[in-house]
Amino acid sequence: MPPAINACYALVLNADYRPLSYYPLSLWSWQEAIRAVVAARVSVISEYERTIRSPSWEIRLPSVIALKEYVPGKRRPTFSRFNVFLRDGFSCQYCGHRFPSNELTFDHVIPRSRGGRTLWTNVVTACAPCNLRKSNALPSESGMMPLSRPAQPTTFQLQEMGRSFPPNYLHESWRDFLYWDMELESF
Ligand SMILES: [Zn+2]
Repeated sequence: MPPAINACYALVLNADYRPLSYYPLSLWSWQEAIRAVVAARVSVISEYERTIRSPSWEIRLPSVIALKEYVPGKRRPTFSRFNVFLRDGFSCQYCGHRFPSNELTFDHVIPRSRGGRTLWTNVVTACAPCNLRKSNALPSESGMMPLSRPAQPTTFQLQEMGRSFPPNYLHESWRDFLYWDMELESF
């Protein structure tokens, strides 16, 4: 079964052929990808079987594209919801169960109402029931301690985590690029 056209995302690589950002993966819709191809801003590395056509031309949808101009990357992972979930392996840090991201919330270990700040070191992934149960109590009051002490992850740690969570629409050819990049990172 070929993927539906709206699932034909293109993985966007930087000019050095490393993904522009890992998490969330740099994905463009097929419309954005085609526009960039037509504007000659990107090179096509790999394509889907699926084509789109007009009366005068036919083009295969790109699955992997590389920017022609290098975009400098960020050294530190973004402190984002996704990256916190990813750091914690999409698992509630109180009951240890894994949930889809739409069933997870942030929990402040030291609640905001008690002076806790929104930092890597004070925010953990929690499921709604655990979050509710903990409420505004300090860990010492509720007896609920996070399973692992929250810390700022390195990009490498997020990459390692991310490799165990490939989005299910991840094109087979994308894995090769991800793998390749990992090899470079570990030197
Ligand atoms: Zn839980």
